[in-house]
Amino acid sequence: MSKKQFKTEVSDLLNLIIHSLYSNKEIFLRELISNASDAIDKLKYLSLVDGPLKGFSFDPVIDITFDSEAKTLTIKDNGIGMDEKDLNDNLGTIASSGTKKFLANLTDDDKKDSNLIGQFGVGFYAAFMVASKVEVISRKAGCDEAFRWESEGKSSYSVEPSERDGQGTTIILHLNEEGEEYAGRYRLESLIKKYSDHVAYPIYLEYDQESYTDEKDSEGNPIKKTEHKREQINSASALWRRNKSDIKDEEYKEFYKNNCFDSEDPLFYLHTHAEGATEYTTLFFIPAKAPFDMNYADYRSGVKLYVKRVYITDDDKELLPTYLRFVRGVIDSEDLPLNVSREILQENRIMSAIRNGSVKKLLSEFKKISENNPELYDKFIREYNRPLKEGLYSDYANRDTLLELVRYKSNEVEGFTSLKAYKERMKEGQKAIYYITGGKESILRNSPLLASYKKKGYEVLIMDDDIDEIVISMVGEYQELPLKAINKSGAMDDIKEEKSEEEKKNDTSLVERFKALLGDRVKDVVASDRLVDTPAVIVMDENDPSWQMQRLMKQMGQGADMPEVKPIFEINPESELVKKAEGLDDESAKKLASVLLDGAYLAEGIMPTDPAAYTRNVAELLSK
Ligand code: ADP
Repeated sequence: MSKKQFKTEVSDLLNLIIHSLYSNKEIFLRELISNASDAIDKLKYLSLVDGPLKGFSFDPVIDITFDSEAKTLTIKDNGIGMDEKDLNDNLGTIASSGTKKFLANLTDDDKKDSNLIGQFGVGFYAAFMVASKVEVISRKAGCDEAFRWESEGKSSYSVEPSERDGQGTTIILHLNEEGEEYAGRYRLESLIKKYSDHVAYPIYLEYDQESYTDEKDSEGNPIKKTEHKREQINSASALWRRNKSDIKDEEYKEFYKNNCFDSEDPLFYLHTHAEGATEYTTLFFIPAKAPFDMNYADYRSGVKLYVKRVYITDDDKELLPTYLRFVRGVIDSEDLPLNVSREILQENRIMSAIRNGSVKKLLSEFKKISENNPELYDKFIREYNRPLKEGLYSDYANRDTLLELVRYKSNEVEGFTSLKAYKERMKEGQKAIYYITGGKESILRNSPLLASYKKKGYEVLIMDDDIDEIVISMVGEYQELPLKAINKSGAMDDIKEEKSEEEKKNDTSLVERFKALLGDRVKDVVASDRLVDTPAVIVMDENDPSWQMQRLMKQMGQGADMPEVKPIFEINPESELVKKAEGLDDESAKKLASVLLDGAYLAEGIMPTDPAAYTRNVAELLSK
């Protein structure tokens, strides 16, 4: 038997694999099964196209056997097989020039980084993580001879003539101490299920099962018997790879329930195949109920990544943007390398094309449903309005679409409205979309500010979701219409009434009076045109954070170094109470102004800075 030296890069690679990828050694099985499946793919292909193998018929199968005493594990396929030259070329050198280049450029530090190593297909050589010796007996389809390759994974290997029934490859691993655990039925079964369930060809596991018979021995003990069993482990049907028109609704739902940890049917699903620069298939499900951990920072991702039907990961939050974390399902790429690592996924061009394409598909499906099936969309929005709003904030590229998808409450309509519907209802001459943020729905709906907008016939969106505040102020506009918060100073001018010179003079003197009375408790005092039955309100300066926002920032621990933000005090010059401030002596007027300000705080659902002083002042003024 002649010994051959591995090409130096193979020795390097072996070293790297054995020393860097060790923590994840179970992936060797996935690699070998994937090779077997590829070999079957190749033979199937050749049996279909013109050439010497056209019409070649075989039943694709992958067989796995083990011997726990001899400590061997065998993976057998009936795919294309390898002849002497193939064995030398494929298993004695590194075929891929990309891998070669990659290896040549690794620094010593890189070599310690298992994630970096994981980015190219370690493939076959992964076997040496668990085996002290590997035998490969292979017979190429269409050839009569078989060959046996053997190596201990050090510096050399050998190839010699051998025998094998039929075409295909048999790989025998002589397990080392680290690999012993893989010569057992349950370990193998779970690995096959975990990584290779959707490999398109059946994977059989052979094992011996001992059981007691009804017969007894001379001492009356039941006699044991050993049965040899052969059982298909994988389901071998990558549902998503089948033709859409051949899949029944029931099959999709079953798949969802079996694979996505939900006992309920999904709300809807979406199955697409993309071809072109990158080829991939996606099958996405929207759960009927939002996943329980949707609003936790450490939520579990629900999308699994496959490469050519081989499972890669279900734990990569980069597969879809965070705001689509409620989506469940599968992405199966044709172009990614099998051993793509997390770091690589994040920067990989193929992956980002897949992600962008998937997001577009999902959003356009949501939009279609919103237009064609309002009832279904209503269910959807009740669960997922909030994450979509996060998308407005984080996904600038898709903001226009997202603006059509999100829904808001309103003071004019029941339930939810879209911005589009709001726009269609707008009064002639109305130049902005108005909304109010900053607290509980009941408080917002009773805000004194609403009255004047109602009088004008301007609808106001009630944004009571704590995220609205941050998101909507950043969005700024919808289809060139500005979005304006009515509890900020900027929206006031829009509903200004023309006033006479005398009224203006009167306003100015009231404003000056209140400024003097309240001093630095407020940022400014203005005369309002938009208060109907209310003496005064507080609003925020257009450029200051609202109360809600300040509260949020404090909750996130950012409040400490934030300067104190003071409100603008908006007074109603028509109000009898406000007018009284001019007639009263300074001390009483101060109390009155203070009561009006504290009352305005209360109307916003905010505690006055000194509640005791407030009640004392009210009592005193009432008794006069
Ligand atoms: P990769 O699969 O990424 O190309 P591997 O190191 O796993 O890298 O395998 C190298 C080559 O050996 C494969 O490209 C293939 O040509 C050949 N090979 C490996 N396993 C088999 C097999 N079971 N049957 C036929 N050819 C195989």
